[in-house]
Amino acid sequence: MTTELSDRELEAYLDESLPAEAAADVEKRLRDDPALLARLQSLVGRRDLGDHSLGAIWQSRRITCADRATLGAYLLGVLDDRRRRGLELHLDVVGCRYCRANLDDMRLRRQEQPEAIGSRRRKFFESSVGRLRND
Ligand SMILES: [Zn+2]
Repeated sequence: MTTELSDRELEAYLDESLPAEAAADVEKRLRDDPALLARLQSLVGRRDLGDHSLGAIWQSRRITCADRATLGAYLLGVLDDRRRRGLELHLDVVGCRYCRANLDDMRLRRQEQPEAIGSRRRKFFESSVGRLRND
C-alpha cells in the first residue's frame, strides 16, 4: 500500500535529510508517478536552488544509477518496460552523465569486441603453432 507523500517529505528528500531507504522509496515512486515528479520539480523551482536542479541533485547522489548488468540488458533490448522507463528517465530527464558515460563505454566495447576477440584468437593460434614447431 502507498500513502501520498507530503510536501514536507519531498522537502526532506531535497534536503537529503531522509534516511537512505526512505529516499530510495521516494525515487522509486518518482519513476512511476509523473504527477509526483512534477510536484517535486515545482518544489525545486520554488526554492530557487540555482544550479541545484533536480538533475543535479540526482547526479550528486547517484542512488538511482544503473549497474552494468542493467545497462547491458538495456543495450540488448531485453530490459522489462518498467525498468527501461526508469532508466530512460534517469538518462534523459536526470541526464546522469555517469550512466551515460558508462553506457557509451559499453556500446563501444560491444562494437569493438568481435574484432578484438578475432585478433586475440589469431594471436593465440599463431603462438601455439610457433611453439609446436619449435618443440
Ligand atoms: Zn546514473
